[in-house]
Amino acid sequence: MKIVYRLIVVGCVSLFAITSCVKDNEFKNKETLITRNVVELINADSIKSYAQMLQDMGTRYALADNRKEVAAAILHKFQSFGFTSVMLDSFYLDTYSTWQYNVVADICGRQYPDSVVIVGGHHDSILREGNGDPFVEAPGADDNASGVAVTLEVARILKSCQYEPTHTIRFVTFAAEELGLLGSLYLSYSYSTNGLKVKFMLNNDMVGYYNSDDSASWVVNIIDYQNSIALRYKAEDIFSNYTCLETVNDNKYQTRSDSYPFYVNGYKALFFITNGDDPNYHSLNDRVEACNFRFAREVAKGNCALVLLNCFNVDN
Ligand SMILES: [Zn+2]
Repeated sequence: MKIVYRLIVVGCVSLFAITSCVKDNEFKNKETLITRNVVELINADSIKSYAQMLQDMGTRYALADNRKEVAAAILHKFQSFGFTSVMLDSFYLDTYSTWQYNVVADICGRQYPDSVVIVGGHHDSILREGNGDPFVEAPGADDNASGVAVTLEVARILKSCQYEPTHTIRFVTFAAEELGLLGSLYLSYSYSTNGLKVKFMLNNDMVGYYNSDDSASWVVNIIDYQNSIALRYKAEDIFSNYTCLETVNDNKYQTRSDSYPFYVNGYKALFFITNGDDPNYHSLNDRVEACNFRFAREVAKGNCALVLLNCFNVDN
């Protein structure tokens, strides 16, 4: 993969040098070309297969006995992509007297290994009152196997390209979001008290449902925070260049997912969510069969391009 890109880029850059010698433009050209090639590798069937794996676990309710098994299955998936720096970051919930397990996987940055860009989404699921027993079954395909699946696919592609980013790219799947954003609260608080530099955090929650197959009608909502408005503008620009999605900015769910604790702890974050409500939300009908993984692929492409363009290493 890497060699092929290098050849394409070398050819392209030398041709470019004849017509223009502006170094900045050469860099931009290389950056755009590589990013475009990489994001196109993202595969909707792969995303679907990860969501199916999570749904097949029966329930991912944070208080169910299989919660460590769920986290371990995600960890093993990262390992199957070649990740060696992957761990369960556990924390104890006094209220529920349970251990909970976030999953964290890194691609180490070459120039700034101590500064991280985070891509993630929560892996637990839940059911609304009267919709069944979440200890037994809670498929949560859109909410939020889709966000985990997007995270895994971006991780798989960046790892397979053997791309060496400037900053560390950290993939995180959060535990116990449905109990009150608990996995992300724990992690962002511990990062901020330890002075970890987080360049920005991208959160994917409910990115797998769309009520139309017509890609021309697809819209992703990019939720921002007071300190991440410029990042949202950048994301809008990148989505319009590298995906087929339109974007909107509707912040009504701003406080309702894992990006919020990162903002509260002083970090820049964005939250991607399908524009429009999912009728299967927190019900037994929130299943892979009802999801649209071609839409999820576009969201993954946007995440991937945003990460690459912010960690671009000219030496690659
Ligand atoms: Zn959710």
